[in-house]
Amino acid sequence: MLLTHKLKLLPNEEQKNALMEVVERFNGACNFVAAAAFRIRSANKIRLQKEVYYAVRERYGLPAQMAIRAIAKVCEAYKRDKGRKPQFNKYGAVVYDQRILSWKGHDLVSLVTLSGRTVIPFLSCDHYEARNGIIRGQADLIFKNRVFYLCVAVEVPESETIEPIDALGVDLGIVNLAVDSDGGTRSGVEACKFRGRVAKLRSGLQSCGTRSAKRHLKKLSGKEKRFQRDINHCISKHIVAKAKDTKRSIVLEDLGGVRSQETVNKAQRRDLNTWGFFQLRSFIEYKAKLAGVPVVFVDPKNTSRICPRCGHVYKENRKTRGDFECVRCGFAGPADHVAATNIAARGRVNGPIVTGDLFGPMDHLGRKPTNSFVSG
Ligand SMILES: [Zn+2]
Repeated sequence: MLLTHKLKLLPNEEQKNALMEVVERFNGACNFVAAAAFRIRSANKIRLQKEVYYAVRERYGLPAQMAIRAIAKVCEAYKRDKGRKPQFNKYGAVVYDQRILSWKGHDLVSLVTLSGRTVIPFLSCDHYEARNGIIRGQADLIFKNRVFYLCVAVEVPESETIEPIDALGVDLGIVNLAVDSDGGTRSGVEACKFRGRVAKLRSGLQSCGTRSAKRHLKKLSGKEKRFQRDINHCISKHIVAKAKDTKRSIVLEDLGGVRSQETVNKAQRRDLNTWGFFQLRSFIEYKAKLAGVPVVFVDPKNTSRICPRCGHVYKENRKTRGDFECVRCGFAGPADHVAATNIAARGRVNGPIVTGDLFGPMDHLGRKPTNSFVSG
């Protein structure tokens, strides 16, 4: 499986300046090439190279291979949307391929700059699993919050898929980040407390409005994200290990199009709750794949309203956000656990699949199920 791996570069002052020069010139060149591509209405690499290669090298002082990469980047962007001229941010990503980048052992990388090659130390700061993988293909040099990173694709070996004998349903949410059908809960309380503290600090800084306050605000959001990411790594690891140890598949609600965080729109992405929710889902998915645990997606309809004992579906079954109590048979329990139980039941290969509606419960063959509740 290919994972994206972010490496934090640790350049000295001189190297920092050299990298900055590369970033600015590369993106300047991209905008120059974009103008040419738009003018001649061509996203053909060979054609564009003929048109602008020498001009790019002369004007921006880029090494040969870097000029080629800039042209290639513009072609890709222009191909995606031929209606308008592609725009490149001043600090956009610089593409490094194997000709202008080489790895020196585990913690050094050699990069071509405008004044020759330079060897820079780096730290791993992403996916724990990726550290033992094999780096493939190109790398992106990124400049973000005054730090240089290299984003690389890493090939990580997958385990053989297990043959599940049962299903572990997982209900993901905001208050309780994850509740499984065994009743295991990871609450969002820690995350909430942390956010509460951050929110206080933030409102103070926002009313301040100075440049340094803005910088602090940015730092805070980075801290929050790292905190949430750690929690999500931890929860997903735990869930996947539990499923694997007990030979169960993991069952999640199928959210249709919005399955990964990439598909969430910008406004939503800014909301850390939503962001964290989708990140946790994607962490569970990729860790499960690596561990060879099958993930099953099921219809999310009524998972929090249906009674796992008698199959009665009714809005009033859910008394409050946290409590479930069946109005027909009196079955009661924590709402998230009930939802996780229902999710697991839907994912069980041979078990009854409850697809009840207001007219009464039925299984997938249209029969009345006897008892779909399996206690954890
Ligand atoms: Zn009931």
